[in-house]
Amino acid sequence: MPMGVDPIEQQREAGPRVVASGAEVAASAADDNPCVSCGACCATYRVSFYWAEAEVLGLPASLFEQLTPFYACMAGTNQPRSRCHALVGEIGGVVACSVYAQRPAACHEVLAGDDKCVAARQRHGLPLLPPRFALAERPL
Ligand code: SF4
Ligand code: SF4
Repeated sequence: MPMGVDPIEQQREAGPRVVASGAEVAASAADDNPCVSCGACCATYRVSFYWAEAEVLGLPASLFEQLTPFYACMAGTNQPRSRCHALVGEIGGVVACSVYAQRPAACHEVLAGDDKCVAARQRHGLPLLPPRFALAERPL
């Protein structure tokens, strides 16, 4: 069973997102970081990871669930209407990840402007990001 971020429409195996902490929300304008006014990918995919990652990161037990003897996922993401329990705020409004510093590696897999980002935003009825967020134009 793979871990990471996969579309719900497919295997619903992963799901992820890039959301900023509350401090970052205050510090950066949505124009510079579209994730702070989005959160769509945190409410689209199943976010799964090797179970020991939660222990290493110190994730609260209430925020993840065991999927198999080897894999866990963020609570709230293993269901048809996925929404990570760590996400606070309103999709498309001001959002933040309540465990930003402890989020699993799967949460780093979606980048603003990539295919999963586009699909998640479409799923939630959000407009395409401006061209400057297209991956082809992003610095390495
Ligand atoms: S869907 Fe895209 S813009 Fe929205 S939080 Fe995820 S990576 Fe950021
Ligand atoms: S842990 Fe944070 S970044 Fe990861 S899916 Fe949940 S809210 Fe999004």
